[in-house]
Amino acid sequence: MVKVITETDGVTAEILSIIKRARKELMIVSPYIQLDGWPRLNDALKYVLNDNEKNEIEITIITRNQPNGNNKSLDELSPYLDRCRVYVVDDLHSKVYYNETTALVTSMNMYQHSAEKNHEIGVLFEERDKVLDVREHIKYLMSAGQKTVSEKKKNLEETTLAKNSKEQFSIQKFMVLSKGNKWIKVETDEGYENKILIANAPGLKDGSWYEAEVIKNWNRTKYGLDVEYTQIKNIRKIQGNCIICGEEIELDPTHPMCKPCYFKNKKYRGSIFGKQCHICGTKQSGITDSKPLCKDCYYAF
Ligand SMILES: [Zn+2]
Ligand SMILES: [Zn+2]
Repeated sequence: MVKVITETDGVTAEILSIIKRARKELMIVSPYIQLDGWPRLNDALKYVLNDNEKNEIEITIITRNQPNGNNKSLDELSPYLDRCRVYVVDDLHSKVYYNETTALVTSMNMYQHSAEKNHEIGVLFEERDKVLDVREHIKYLMSAGQKTVSEKKKNLEETTLAKNSKEQFSIQKFMVLSKGNKWIKVETDEGYENKILIANAPGLKDGSWYEAEVIKNWNRTKYGLDVEYTQIKNIRKIQGNCIICGEEIELDPTHPMCKPCYFKNKKYRGSIFGKQCHICGTKQSGITDSKPLCKDCYYAF
């Protein structure tokens, strides 16, 4: 279904609904952001963030880079920096609101003043292939953007990096976050974002986990740390097990079941009991879809 929304209030309603109905993935692209004085939007964001304590919903927010001077949009996002992936992109003009079932492409920024005063329009997509096309645009923006992290996370990351040599290979686990024209962005098992030149690691699949030997180089930037794998070898895909039936599946602790097991148990999501660890497959009590790893794997991962 494609729906054209010609009323500003209608656009606002869809934005709130997309945020609140996200169960797996929420992505917001808005060059300008103003949340202050907009309680309904703040409540919607807090609602998904609270739900996100189980780490079920991945939240990405992309806003515009302001090369000179303060970025007010980033200031507005500061309470959310530790819980969401936040990127700044040069010359950003798209406004998109996406969850795993719905995508809204609109003229409206996530800006309180716009919701109240501006004339806005939006087009809502629910057909899977269209929703995925929109997602691809957002992934492209992620690959082109700079991830922004809090000062606290920056310091933690620097401490972790200091254990690495800039000359020697070390083993690294990572998940492919996005692929652009030049860079592959990956997220490490410690939750940090790193990048690889596409030419150095062809064939990596979006959303999959890998283990490889890498040499890292890093620099502190205004927004976070810019970490590049200057060399990469012995790339190996990491597989996981369905926590219920044990079948080999893609490693993804946020979705640790095969499709049939997931659909059978969907309504208990968050407290579905499993029999084995998602990573090592060891039979274990106390495994659930929200805690899919045994203790050893949890600390090693
Ligand atoms: Zn299964
Ligand atoms: Zn395990």
